[in-house]
Amino acid sequence: MSLLQLENVVLTYGKIEALHGLTFDVEEGEVVALIGANGAGKTSTMRAISGVRGLHAGKILFDGQDVTRLRADQRMRKGLCLAPEGRGIFPGMTVTENLDMGAYTRRDRAAVAEDLERVFSLFPRLQERRKQVAGTMSGGEQQMLAIGRALMSRPKLLLLDEPSMGLAPMLIQQIFGIISEINGQGTTVLVVEQNAKQALSLAHRAFVLETGSIVKSGTGPELLVDPTVREAYLGVA
Ligand code: ATP
Repeated sequence: MSLLQLENVVLTYGKIEALHGLTFDVEEGEVVALIGANGAGKTSTMRAISGVRGLHAGKILFDGQDVTRLRADQRMRKGLCLAPEGRGIFPGMTVTENLDMGAYTRRDRAAVAEDLERVFSLFPRLQERRKQVAGTMSGGEQQMLAIGRALMSRPKLLLLDEPSMGLAPMLIQQIFGIISEINGQGTTVLVVEQNAKQALSLAHRAFVLETGSIVKSGTGPELLVDPTVREAYLGVA
């Protein structure tokens, strides 16, 4: 049984249909990447899975349960946590306060303290800056904080919406390295990315999204050498 299963998911904004019946799954332990151009529906897919936006039709199963009608906070309590595009951190709060917010649903204080140490060891920069007001940090630091905050809920499935957006190449490398480390520690990851090369290098499996439909799927290594993917998403003629 898959950890996450989307069945014919249709998502609309008024009369605009952004997702035309998506079907795909994520197995426990995997990193799955969803790649696609601007406007392909990557963020909409994340909204559908996290529950930020309801579906027009279709079904979402998570960890053996139908979560289609659950609110975002209810899904989060079940272990589905989104680090949103544009970061979505609380700019007026410090780094530590933001991380505490990520754990607000948890009562296991000792385990929360352990997870805070884990986040600080993954992101030493956040530990150095723990008293800094989040809104004054650099884009890369805010991205680290968004991922760190999501980890504080100890998710079964971590959803990452364009973690490389707006980052310099060296930081992109670093963020993807950390995603790989998070997965190595046992967290399943679904990542949507315009940066196809990095995402495919990391992913066990990947899906290509074009205007609201999946047009191709395969393992990360397969898609990295696929001629149409190379031409359309990796800039190789
Ligand atoms: P990008 O990489 O540019 O963020 P994306 O792949 O994440 O793109 P989405 O943001 O999911 O794409 O958008 C998919 C489609 O839905 C686009 O045509 C977009 O214009 C439309 N859309 C997204 N959000 C809304 C909204 N709030 N209201 C109306 N249309 C929307």
